[in-house]
Amino acid sequence: MRPSYLIKPALDESYPEIDYGKGIYLFDQAGKRYLDASSGAVTANIGHGVPEIILAMHEQSKRVSFVYRSQFTSEPAEKLAEKLADLLPGDLNWSFFVNSGSEATETALKIAIQYWQEKGIKSKTKILSRWVSYHGITLGALSMSGHPGRRARFVPLLEEFPTISPPYCYRCPYQKSAPECGFLCAIELETAIKRIGADHIAAFIAEPVIGAAGGAISPPEDYYKTIKRICEENHILFIADEVMTGFGRTGPMLAIEHWNTIPDIVALGKGMGAGYAPIAATVVSDHVMEPILKGSKVIISGHTLSANPQSCAAALAVLEYLDNHQILKEVESKSVYLKNKLDRLKTQFPFIGEVRGKGLLFGLEFVQFPAAKIPFDPSVKLTELVVRTGRDHGILLYPAGAGLDGLSGDAVIIAPPLTVTKREIDELIALLQTTFIEVYKTLGV
Ligand code: PLP
Repeated sequence: MRPSYLIKPALDESYPEIDYGKGIYLFDQAGKRYLDASSGAVTANIGHGVPEIILAMHEQSKRVSFVYRSQFTSEPAEKLAEKLADLLPGDLNWSFFVNSGSEATETALKIAIQYWQEKGIKSKTKILSRWVSYHGITLGALSMSGHPGRRARFVPLLEEFPTISPPYCYRCPYQKSAPECGFLCAIELETAIKRIGADHIAAFIAEPVIGAAGGAISPPEDYYKTIKRICEENHILFIADEVMTGFGRTGPMLAIEHWNTIPDIVALGKGMGAGYAPIAATVVSDHVMEPILKGSKVIISGHTLSANPQSCAAALAVLEYLDNHQILKEVESKSVYLKNKLDRLKTQFPFIGEVRGKGLLFGLEFVQFPAAKIPFDPSVKLTELVVRTGRDHGILLYPAGAGLDGLSGDAVIIAPPLTVTKREIDELIALLQTTFIEVYKTLGV
């Protein structure tokens, strides 16, 4: 057994080693080409090997790669914060840079609690969230996550934050349809607040489009309007976890803009560095910063590599690239093109129970019996089979769990780089077709 780094599945000798990437493709050491239909973990938003980003990082590294945030600021950090304040809606004007999505959501949790403390309210320490959600892997972020699979082993170390139903219309817990349902899943927030007491709740956190835990579950119109109203009426902050959806993944800079809702705090990550550098951010609105600036004056958090100049330079270059190539303007037309083709695929392969999503973030949920929406038995490990078969056929898909208990149910995320062309979308669909034919063969149907 040769020593190995510990992220890859241990003892998986067939785990490919990537040699290089170009555009939407990755190439392994054996020369095999993979179409990156998921941008890795919905991260490589502008594709691989973009010279402008590499050059910007190189230029920054020639000046300085690292300064410690408690001693110095830097030009890229200042410029990035300014740019984000310009691009994000409302008064989301204060960026706190971190290195991963988990750090961004966990910092949001801390800022929400600090906000109420600075106002003299010490009892508001709980964060409400939804089941079928994923906010990160560190203990605070995992405490907010409704993802039993990732929580199970660490439950004794987690806060038992209360959760409400997700807006999962395909499997509506009330067995109703929107909008006639009256958004009962959003109203659950009001019920939970009444039960727990608003004076114990600092914030409610939600992914505008549910990613890893659900497979691109997008809520119906007016859902977030209801959520925001309930938060405001009860003096609870609304945190949008845009780690997967931010930086234009669904078209606008933030997915929550689709629902004309402005959060009090936003977590960004993934597409921010687009895979070129580890960078994430917690962006805070003026009104949340106000008591903090009058009180402690600093956010009581931070990491050694927060606001690392080289990472900030990479994120700035990503923003410049998106702007120079007008990438976000084309997301909607590419989305329609891809959605039509995925819908057609659903008619060919009835195990696709639902095609859903927003912008270039789509989910396919798989079911054994489509009419009754009955999932595959977990022992089939359908998601794993689809992802592995895809990889064998040269297409990369992101596994997502869609079941109501967060453990059962099968889904994959389709989220190619936003730079994908229509011709490449055609190829993506052809590769999916080949993959599904093979999966059907393995299932013996
Ligand atoms: N929040 C959301 C919505 C995510 O999808 C993820 C990662 O998948 C995270 C937070 C955690 O981000 P990271 O893996 O960078 O810590």
